[in-house]
Amino acid sequence: MSKVLKYIFRTYGCQMNEHDTEIMEGMLNELGYTATDQEELADLIIFNTCSVRENADNKVFGEIGRMKNIKRENPNMLLALCGCMAQQESVVNRILKSYPQVDMVFGTHNIHKLPELIEQAIMSRETIVDVWQTEGDIIENLPRNRKDGIKACVTIMYGCNNFCTYCIVPHTRGRERSRSVETIINEIKQLKNDGYKEVTLLGQNVNSYGKDLKEDIDFSDLLKLIDEIGIARIRFMTSHPKDFNDKLIDVIKNGKNICEQIHIPFQAGSNEVLKRMNRKHSREWYLERIKKIKNNIPNVSLSTDVIVGFPDETEEQFEHTIDIVRQVEFDLAYTFIYSPREGTPAANLTDTISVYDKKRRLQKLIEVQNEISKKKNQQYVGEIVEVLVEGYSKTNPQKLTGRTRTNKIVNFIGEETLIGQLVHIRIDLAKTWSLEGVYINE
Ligand code: SAM
Ligand code: SF4
Repeated sequence: MSKVLKYIFRTYGCQMNEHDTEIMEGMLNELGYTATDQEELADLIIFNTCSVRENADNKVFGEIGRMKNIKRENPNMLLALCGCMAQQESVVNRILKSYPQVDMVFGTHNIHKLPELIEQAIMSRETIVDVWQTEGDIIENLPRNRKDGIKACVTIMYGCNNFCTYCIVPHTRGRERSRSVETIINEIKQLKNDGYKEVTLLGQNVNSYGKDLKEDIDFSDLLKLIDEIGIARIRFMTSHPKDFNDKLIDVIKNGKNICEQIHIPFQAGSNEVLKRMNRKHSREWYLERIKKIKNNIPNVSLSTDVIVGFPDETEEQFEHTIDIVRQVEFDLAYTFIYSPREGTPAANLTDTISVYDKKRRLQKLIEVQNEISKKKNQQYVGEIVEVLVEGYSKTNPQKLTGRTRTNKIVNFIGEETLIGQLVHIRIDLAKTWSLEGVYINE
C-alpha cells in the first residue's frame, strides 16, 4: 500500500491568501494528499505569505528558519514559500542566500502550477524559483477546498490599480482583473445549491469591478444580479471611498439579501496626508459619503482601516484621524502603524516620527475606537437579531457563535443542530468585540 502524502499550509494575511490556499489545497487533494497539523508527519509544508507590513515578513523568516530542524529529521519533506513575499526580488534573494531548506518559491500569479512545481522540486537538489512578474489570464475551474459549508468567499476581481504610496499590493498582486459576470454568478448559484447561506465578494477594491471588462457592467450591477440569486446573505470587501457612488448606495438600500455592513477604509483624516498617500479621496468626500450611506441604509455597520505614523504626520494631522473616528463612529477599525515597504514610493520618504510617538498614537486611536465599538454594541441590548450560526465559540466552547447581518459576533447557548441555520437571538449583553444573547425558539 502506498503512503498517503500529507500537507500543511501556514497562511498569513488577507482573505485573498485564504482564497489561494483553498485552491492549492484543492489541487493537492486531487493529487491524493491529505491535510495534517503535525509538522513531523508532513511531506509538504507551504508558507503562503503576506508582505503588507514588515512584521508579517519577519514572522515568516523566523518560521522558515525553524523549519531547518524539521527538515533535518525528515529530509524528504518539501518546503515551499509562496504569496506576496515571494513576489519581491529581495525576499527571493534572501531565501536563496540564507535558507537552503526551502525547495520551492512561487508567486501569486502562478499558484495553478503547484503540481508541476512539486514534481520539479522532487527531482531537483536546488531551490526551484518560479515567480511571474506580471499577471497572466485568470485561471477558472481550479479545484477548491472550501471548508465550512455555511459561508464562502468569492473573488470577483484580482489586483489593484490604485497605487497608494505605502502599499505593496499593486506590486505583488498586479493590475485589476475582473472575473466575468457569468463565472461569478454560476459560482454563487452553485454555492446556494450546495446549501451555503452567505457569500463575501472579495477584491482589493470591489467597487471598481468591471472597469477592465468589455461589457458595460459595474459593481452595482453585479451586486444586483447576485442579490437576485437568493442566497441569504451577501457581503463584500474592500470598498474604496472614491468609487462608492450613489448607484451603489441605492442597490444596497433596495437589496434584499445584501447585508447592512460596509468596510470602507479611510486610512488618514488629514487631506495633506491623504494626498501623500495618493488615496484619491479627501476627508470631506469621505465624510459626505458616510453621511449618505447612513441616511440611506438604516442601522448600517461601518468598519475601516487606519494607518498612523505615515512619514511626517504631525500631531495635528493625527488628531484629524481621531476626529473622523469620532464623527463616523465606526463599529470596528483595523488600525496599523505605518510600515515602510521596499519598492513603494513612501519607502523613500524620510520618516521623522519616533517609534514612541507612533505607538502612542496607535494606542490613543485604539482606546477611542474601543469605546465607540462598545457603545455601538450596547445599542443591541434588548434587540432581537438574525444570526447565522457558524459553530461552537472558540473562546467559550459551551456556546454557539454566529454573526448578525451587521457582522456582529453573537454567542449563545443552543443545540448543535442550529449550526448553519439563521436563528433569532435576543441580545442581553454587549462586550467590546461581541454580543451575548438568548436563542428564541419560534
Ligand atoms: N485594498 C484595501 C484598501 O484599499 O483598503 C486593503 C488592502 S491592504 C492589504 C489592508 C490594509 O493594510 C490597508 O487598508 C492599510 O490600512 C494597511 N496597509 C497597507 N499597507 C500598509 C503599510 N505599508 N503600513 C501599514 N499599513 C498598511
Ligand atoms: Fe493597497 Fe491602496 Fe490598492 Fe488598497 S487601494 S490594495 S491600500 S494600493
